[in-house]
Amino acid sequence: MGTQTCDILIIGGGMAGSLAALALADAGFTCVLAEKFPLSNQKQPLFDGRTTAIAYAGQRLLDKLDLWAPLAKGAGPIEQIIVTDGRPKDRFRQGGTASGFLHFDSKEISDGDHTQPLGWIVENRFMRAAFIDAMQQKEKITLKAPASWTRIVNEGGHQMVTFENGDKVKASLVIGADGRPSPVRVHAGIRTSKWSYGQTGIVCTISSARDHHNIAQEFFTPGGPFAVLPLPQQRASLVWTETTAMAKAIVSLPEPELMHHLENNFGPYLGELKLAGPVWAYPLSFLMAEKFYTDRIALIGDAAHGVHPIAGQGFNLGIKDIAALRDVLHEAALAGLDIGHGSVLERYQRWRHFDTAALAFGMDALTRLFSTDNAALHLARSTGLGMVNKVAPLRKFFMRQAGGEAGDLPSLMRA
Ligand SMILES: Cc1cc2nc3c(=O)[nH]c(=O)nc-3n(C[C@H](O)[C@H](O)[C@H](O)COP(=O)(O)OP(=O)(O)OC[C@H]3O[C@@H](n4cnc5c(N)ncnc54)[C@H](O)[C@@H]3O)c2cc1C
Repeated sequence: MGTQTCDILIIGGGMAGSLAALALADAGFTCVLAEKFPLSNQKQPLFDGRTTAIAYAGQRLLDKLDLWAPLAKGAGPIEQIIVTDGRPKDRFRQGGTASGFLHFDSKEISDGDHTQPLGWIVENRFMRAAFIDAMQQKEKITLKAPASWTRIVNEGGHQMVTFENGDKVKASLVIGADGRPSPVRVHAGIRTSKWSYGQTGIVCTISSARDHHNIAQEFFTPGGPFAVLPLPQQRASLVWTETTAMAKAIVSLPEPELMHHLENNFGPYLGELKLAGPVWAYPLSFLMAEKFYTDRIALIGDAAHGVHPIAGQGFNLGIKDIAALRDVLHEAALAGLDIGHGSVLERYQRWRHFDTAALAFGMDALTRLFSTDNAALHLARSTGLGMVNKVAPLRKFFMRQAGGEAGDLPSLMRA
């Protein structure tokens, strides 16, 4: 038992909390990261079956923090994105019935001879391991795991946080990176808007007989979006959204029947498919915190916002939170200001809250628009996709949005 003093206590050691510790330590802050479960759990290959589409602006941050080198080899570049209003089998069979589609090619936003991918698909298990390994190397980061807090008391100039084993941490600022239920957010009395989509994302990795040519495909089916995300070695990660009842039935099928169902949906465009790992199910929901801070507490990642994976933006929003908060705190510290003061954190709120809410509610509308078979809506969205596809500046605008380059970019995300 003892009291440890640091600049910033981060509660939650998922991908957002770990990356925040690395980014803030890089800016010179002493950090304690407290995670409820042993960090070694996250390094188990079966802990998290998902992949994350990292937008190119987010990849810059990973690169600048020296985190990209261990990830680069296992990352699948996204050179093109094709969005189709219909099932894969409708689009790829002769005379297919899928109508609207949209094609993004990284060459269109290339910088002279230099073409960079629109993003990369990274397996979460690799990212979690890379972040934990890097944190263990940093003198400015102290890891406390497993550790659960019992009390957070704002004592004026600092927060005093007490843990179950009696340990105390005194910090100028507490960051809640403790996921959607966020006990830190609840403690801070910050309200949320939240709802369930009644949908579940079935996630698995497949290997295929034919090459995916580094093209990410997103198909809008009545059950929800179906994404095929390119990985190295002719593998792809699938995020297959269905209503929760249907998803439960699908994941409980024996493998041959599941594959039959998958191939029936998929059609022949990647040739014969094989499962390359377990099948996972993630219930999908929406969450938006009414604000991202109170005095001496800031929220980042899914503790602040949780979005549908329709556009692969959830963790990318978290990366931008981290980069923006780092800039705000760094500038405040250089100016001799108190990094936990409400007036400093208000800047973080102004930078991130409005943009995130606009994107989150926009994606919510998109999810509803595309998860239906209604003929009128089908026509409207096909027309919309067709329009964007024909107008080059609009296409480029959407590519830059997908690349995370929209709005005021924090320093670690700039080219
Ligand atoms: C199917 C699916 C596909 C996705 N694909 C993409 C994608 O392609 N691109 C993208 O950008 N995003 C994607 N996302 C979103 C992304 O996975 C999440 O945004 C991200 O994992 C959230 O990380 P986090 O660290 O904020 O939260 P979490 O992963 O929930 O981590 C929170 C951590 O806090 C800990 N914790 C909780 N309570 C306490 C406590 N009391 N004390 C200490 N620790 C505590 C937890 O144990 C956990 O480790 C996807 C999501 C899903 C469901």
